[in-house]
Amino acid sequence: MPRKIAVGNWKMNGTAADLDQIKALAPTAASAGVATLICPPASLISRAAGLGVDIGAQDCHAGVSGAHTGDLSAEMLADAGATHIITGHSERRQDHNETDADIAAKTQAVWRAGLTAIICIGESEAQYRAGETLDVIAAQLAGSVPTGAGPQNTIVAYEPIWAIGTGLTPTVDEIAKVHAFIRAQLAKALPEGAEVSLLYGGSVKASNAAEIFAVADVDGALVGGASLKAADFGPIVTALATAS
Ligand code: PEP
Repeated sequence: MPRKIAVGNWKMNGTAADLDQIKALAPTAASAGVATLICPPASLISRAAGLGVDIGAQDCHAGVSGAHTGDLSAEMLADAGATHIITGHSERRQDHNETDADIAAKTQAVWRAGLTAIICIGESEAQYRAGETLDVIAAQLAGSVPTGAGPQNTIVAYEPIWAIGTGLTPTVDEIAKVHAFIRAQLAKALPEGAEVSLLYGGSVKASNAAEIFAVADVDGALVGGASLKAADFGPIVTALATAS
């Protein structure tokens, strides 16, 4: 069975004062009994680790070390306390021109450091409107998910770009169709592909979480805005725990 997991992506938000949100989330995460991960900005990782919630990073460089000013390797992030690293978030694909090949290389770096990669894929609004969603997803899976991926080292997050931070979400039927497609593609491509956890991301909040978690092949969520406050993210974690 794929493992359930609720992931919060703080993006470029948070300073030391916000560590209190992780402390406040810890009892909910512990009692819910589902994996709960917060990906704060890299500046907070070492201070966030050990507060009772698993901690991840939002990106890494593909190399181990060297002349790459401002970058962090997966090994450095592991050393700081990260257990997971997001690769291929649409904001990195857009703002930093990251390609599927870059994301595959970063994913291999995550594995090299002994961590789990959370690989993000998803179509733009124009691609959605043109009915190209499954073609885009197939191409991103083929290009961004290296052979060697499996439930022990990889999670895949489907995040339609037009749903991120907009308050818009696909219908549950649309989420079901895309997740079933991703599951089938991974099962075809990888020996244990069917066991990889699949997350939905894009405007998940406490009020829609239960409905989304009831969708077949949705094993959890990647949450942006609603992960910043424990009072918002806690109910999402609880909804995941109670989803069948
Ligand atoms: C995200 O950051 O990946 C995301 C899904 O953001 P939001 O939940 O704010 O739409």
